[in-house]
Amino acid sequence: MAICATCGLPDEICICEEIAKETQRIRITSDRRRYGKVVTIVEGLDAGDVDLDELARTLKTKVAAGGTVKKGRIELQGEHRKKVEQTLQDLGYHVEIT
Ligand SMILES: [Zn+2]
Repeated sequence: MAICATCGLPDEICICEEIAKETQRIRITSDRRRYGKVVTIVEGLDAGDVDLDELARTLKTKVAAGGTVKKGRIELQGEHRKKVEQTLQDLGYHVEIT
């Protein structure tokens, strides 16, 4: 039986991931870049608890746009704040309303 290294409980009843989702303070902002291009930025994710590349893939599929992971932030091309917020909440994340 696998034991979680963080809480010492068996993996089946470990809730570290759930706690991590709730304690992270995720902010979703958008920024206008050169040539008027807008990017949606997801900040506050803990790279130790979240697979940022996987999450970025999920978000990119959801908003049907390109994106990258940079310095612990996910950047998506275009204005997708509402959709990203909804998607993250559906996944169980606590999103800080800005
Ligand atoms: Zn745990």
